[in-house]
Amino acid sequence: MSWVTSLARPEIVALKSFEPAAWEPAVTRLNANELPWRASADESLAGLNRYPDPQARALIGRLSEVYGVAPESLLVCRGSDEAIDLLVRAFCRSGQDAVMICPPTYGLYTLAAGIQGAHVVSVPLAAGEGFALDARAVLERSTAEVKLVFLCSPNNPTGNLLSESAILQVTDALAQRVIVVVDEAYIEFSHRESLAVHVARRPQLAVLRTLSKAHGLAGARLGTLIADPEVIRLLRKIIAPYAVPQLIVEAVTTLLSPLHLRTLQRRIAQVRAERARVQEVLAKAAGVTAVLPSEANFLLARFRDPAFSLARTVAAGIRIRDVRGYLGLSDALRISIGTPEENDRLLGVWS
Ligand code: PMP
Repeated sequence: MSWVTSLARPEIVALKSFEPAAWEPAVTRLNANELPWRASADESLAGLNRYPDPQARALIGRLSEVYGVAPESLLVCRGSDEAIDLLVRAFCRSGQDAVMICPPTYGLYTLAAGIQGAHVVSVPLAAGEGFALDARAVLERSTAEVKLVFLCSPNNPTGNLLSESAILQVTDALAQRVIVVVDEAYIEFSHRESLAVHVARRPQLAVLRTLSKAHGLAGARLGTLIADPEVIRLLRKIIAPYAVPQLIVEAVTTLLSPLHLRTLQRRIAQVRAERARVQEVLAKAAGVTAVLPSEANFLLARFRDPAFSLARTVAAGIRIRDVRGYLGLSDALRISIGTPEENDRLLGVWS
């Protein structure tokens, strides 16, 4: 029995995969109860009368080039949110197993655990050390019930990167006992390379990437899990049979062009420049007590009277994120970096 098989829920390991209709464009398809004619205004390449390729080869091929990893290590999902949910459902037995999170962090790990009936073991980031990962505490608290450790880097909502050596130390120490899931939704905005290159030699490491942030494709709902091929095969058993719609497969495969990747670099540079500018102005704004350094496309700021500062943005027709409910952030608000004009409007409210 492989370590993935022994870590996963036995019911999932035992599941027989759903056999999607074979996706071979050249053959006559009379196997999926589809209508043989296109809808009148359907201008898609493959025809929306046909079910999509469950893990579209062209899209996977393109993403494997973009992320620099082997195609068999990729699973495309409806946003990385879906990958989080699939991981929890595949590895955590309801009422028995647990996920570990390091708060304050992205809320979906806890939500996915709650939906599945998994426990949550919380190992707070070290607030006094810039919300650093407490690797020693993670190892100490990694009991047999913990199947997944979610680490978010850059972390949402604090914006800092977690130390690469601390992540790899935790990953190596917990080999074959857990899957360490590094959520890199915001990695493109940071000065750090993705940890995805380490997945080939560390099968217990999984990396989440998304097109929703730096790529500017949040509406496409396209996230990618990069993991050991055995983990990918397991999750393919439980992902919805034709998860990614054909229009999205076609649009994203075309969008991930060399031109797009060049534009991406320009956009990232713009966001970083605006992030630095907004951070500087914000630090001097009325009512702001601190602005945390950020490696993402948002800033976390602390306020003397956060309710008052928030109310002023609402009155001005601007929405920022209220994160006062997060551990240790009772005075904090999270601000996404917008266009220079949008940022100026926000800063004008607090000047
Ligand atoms: N991870 C983090 C840390 C996020 O902040 C988000 C979105 N807010 C996601 C994952 C989900 O991204 P998506 O489902 O759009 O890929």
